[in-house]
Amino acid sequence: MSKRTRSHNAQKVIERMGKKLNRQIVGSLAGCVHCGLCTDSCHYVLANPGDPTYAPAYKADQIRKIFKRHYDWTGRVVPWWVKAKSVSSDEDLEALKDTVFGKCTNCRRCSLNCPMGVDYATFNRMARGLLVSVGVMPEGVAVVSKDQWEIGNQMGVLKEDYLETLDWLSEEMQDELGDESAVIPIDKEDADVVYSINPREVKYDPRTISDAAKIFHQAGENWTMPSEGWDMTNFGLFSGDDDLGGSVARRLFEKTSALRGRKLVISECGHGYRSTRCEGQNWAQMDVDFEMESSVNTMLRYIEQGRIKVDKSRNKTPVTFHDSCNNARSCGLTEEPRALLRLVCEDFREMHPNRAENYCCTGGGGAMSMSEYTPRRLKSGKVKAEQLEATGAQIVVTSCHNCVDGLQDVIRHYKLDMKVTQLVNLVAKALVVEKPVPVEAVPTPAEEVAAITAEVSAATPAPVAAADAAPRGSLDGYTILVTDDEPDFVTFASAILEDHGARVLQAHSGEEAMETARREMPDLMTLDLSMPGTSGSEVFERMRRDPELGQLPIFIITGQPELRRLIYDRDVRSPEGYLDKPITEQGLLFNIRKALNVPH
Ligand code: SF4
Ligand code: SF4
Repeated sequence: MSKRTRSHNAQKVIERMGKKLNRQIVGSLAGCVHCGLCTDSCHYVLANPGDPTYAPAYKADQIRKIFKRHYDWTGRVVPWWVKAKSVSSDEDLEALKDTVFGKCTNCRRCSLNCPMGVDYATFNRMARGLLVSVGVMPEGVAVVSKDQWEIGNQMGVLKEDYLETLDWLSEEMQDELGDESAVIPIDKEDADVVYSINPREVKYDPRTISDAAKIFHQAGENWTMPSEGWDMTNFGLFSGDDDLGGSVARRLFEKTSALRGRKLVISECGHGYRSTRCEGQNWAQMDVDFEMESSVNTMLRYIEQGRIKVDKSRNKTPVTFHDSCNNARSCGLTEEPRALLRLVCEDFREMHPNRAENYCCTGGGGAMSMSEYTPRRLKSGKVKAEQLEATGAQIVVTSCHNCVDGLQDVIRHYKLDMKVTQLVNLVAKALVVEKPVPVEAVPTPAEEVAAITAEVSAATPAPVAAADAAPRGSLDGYTILVTDDEPDFVTFASAILEDHGARVLQAHSGEEAMETARREMPDLMTLDLSMPGTSGSEVFERMRRDPELGQLPIFIITGQPELRRLIYDRDVRSPEGYLDKPITEQGLLFNIRKALNVPH
């Protein structure tokens, strides 16, 4: 095949491959003897025993044959013998995309089981990066990468939303602890701990932030959260884009340095920990002068040093632990989470196999953002579901936000009776909080007068508004229209909202949603984007332009994040909220309350 007959993109992929080859990658590309020992280590193979295209060696060969053809002498001399083959067309690149993004989560379990030291995941990542460099990638990967490049975090969380959320959480913590000094410090200089998080925490799981804040506060830590450069996740690890990896890591490191932080603590996230602590300095090509550690180590140290007290009897439900692939296989973080679990839970049960031999949650390698492969991914979760069920535990704990989503999907798909949580939530639940003892102050004369006036007005009964009578966070008095063509989703979301006091209306298509909205004038409408008939994005624009419905708050909930641009590219007011499926009860409530301005 000459350069002239090869497509432009195929030619670029071949040329760029030459620049990516290093000793480790060449060793892995050349080292496979096709013994097949890695085959059964892959969760895709276990779920598809009759399909050889899922075998790690077969998948690796789709990349290896290009290397052999262009960069290995054996491929030039005896190409038929070593199965060397080039890529020539854009269709060839699409086929490669299906393998490297859609049939592997880069979990590295096969790498661990190869006697020849072949690390397929490493060159699978390289192949992803080559395809991304010519624009061949799943749509979700493009969307998430764009957000991380342009907005600075991979979920497109705007700075004002992030700061507003932290403010909100500070107020809640002050109320809960009865302590004015219990706040989340922002951009404090010379802190001993700079705490970085996953944007999923802001968007779906703010409880993990408030639980961590409570722990730092109780430990008396001199800590802070940065106002920007706070996202420790790094989509460059998944997309194979080292430039993105470097840019994200640099943002985080530079902000920590600017604050003169002494230690960067990384909240519970497998790929964030690996990207930031293990790969970040290489990608960013910079050295840092502060330490980095996982929040798991931080929490463990606080307990061991007596800086916080915990009561494990508050966590009686049997728990098991899922090791994130990045934490366990790539970073060796296996014993600290177990030590912590034993300190804060009464009944911890190991899952088998575990630690570096654990199976992937199915959500690794950025798989959660590639909705076109969801059925394949869920099928590959069979072995994970079996592992979970065999523990007999009711809660699975993991130190990774990606794994939380992957496990929740597996649990739902295989109908297991389990919940997923993180270590920070269990530590916060077990935390023994000693409330500050109020000190009696001697009032000044002016304060005495003010106190008497306050007493008099307190004695005068005031009418109680309905909203005041409702418990904090209640949706009592609000009408919410849930729109989705999936009946299960409508039932699930409606039950959550009704349980918290809302009156819920339901619609299963765009037309039905518009009719119901016009008739009932709800306070807020949730909207799925992908529905038969009039699509969600059309419904959104039509409602925004409608004189009667234009002001109705609309909350997008979609299983296809790649459709996000269909909404945000429209020349109308942005939606009042946005969530990707799968949703959690807590994430839905937090975001709906925020959109409705309901204090929580
Ligand atoms: S890295 Fe994981 S998902 Fe990919 S082939 Fe190996 S075992 Fe399978
Ligand atoms: S990658 Fe390793 S274990 Fe798998 S077939 Fe090749 S040599 Fe054997």
